[in-house]
Amino acid sequence: MSVDSAPAAEQSITGWSLGIRGTALCQYCTKELGEGDEVTAYAYRPVEDQLVSVARLYCSECNHREIEHPALGCYEWLAKARLATTSDVAYQSHETTLTGIEIIDQSGPQGDTL
Ligand SMILES: [Zn+2]
Repeated sequence: MSVDSAPAAEQSITGWSLGIRGTALCQYCTKELGEGDEVTAYAYRPVEDQLVSVARLYCSECNHREIEHPALGCYEWLAKARLATTSDVAYQSHETTLTGIEIIDQSGPQGDTL
């Protein structure tokens, strides 16, 4: 199933891992983002690809709420999200993941609004 709708994108982004103990940074002001922070996540999927990737995060102060320059040939989404820590007890690892996803803007492969 390919992802081209907001609910499908929401599902793909939920639980997206930002890496083990990695610090996430706001793409705009480079503020460090930690557990519990409200962020805006930018995700995209090239039309020829099946997978959605989260490419950028913005802090709540930068308040990035619109896809300003839609990329042709890509489905793109902006989502409100919260950072959460997911622990895997078996491996004693902690990952920062995205939760509470809510799509706030999206764009289709022709730069159109879906
Ligand atoms: Zn910021």
